[in-house]
Amino acid sequence: MNGNLTFTMIKPDAMQRGFMSKILDKITDTGFKVKAMKLTKLSKEQAQQFYGVHKERPFFNDLVEYMSSGPIVAAVLEKNNAVEDFRKLIGATDPTKADEGTIRKMYAESIQYNAVHGSDSDENAMIEGNFFFSARERF
Ligand code: UDP
Ligand code: MG
Repeated sequence: MNGNLTFTMIKPDAMQRGFMSKILDKITDTGFKVKAMKLTKLSKEQAQQFYGVHKERPFFNDLVEYMSSGPIVAAVLEKNNAVEDFRKLIGATDPTKADEGTIRKMYAESIQYNAVHGSDSDENAMIEGNFFFSARERF
């Protein structure tokens, strides 16, 4: 059975371009409930830790620079089948390959500046939610 929680970030590019409210509306209109949410900014060290699985990838340093370059919104979201349904809502990593109507198709600039994060598994949703929120904040 799939879990009912996922984790998201509205990334610095989308914040900077003024898409925060539109993206949050789209998320809640699709049936996700916000369990926890904060406006924050990652240090380079935090961005390195969050994206640690990608540390050998050629885009890692640019990704860390970008993700620590400005404010983000971090949130834990609740819905049936949350991880899979949220990945569907955001669309492919590369916005040129994302389906019509997805958040990345509508608001992403490029494969790097792609507007939003979405967890890729129930296990990572827990790890990522715990990275930003205490147990008291999440429930
Ligand atoms: N990324 C990038 N270049 C690439 C692939 C990914 O800059 O060729 C960035 C992009 O911001 C992406 C993040 O690294 O969202 C994490 O990559 P992942 O493959 O996990 O994509 P996601 O799960 O976010 O769709
Ligand atoms: Mg990923």
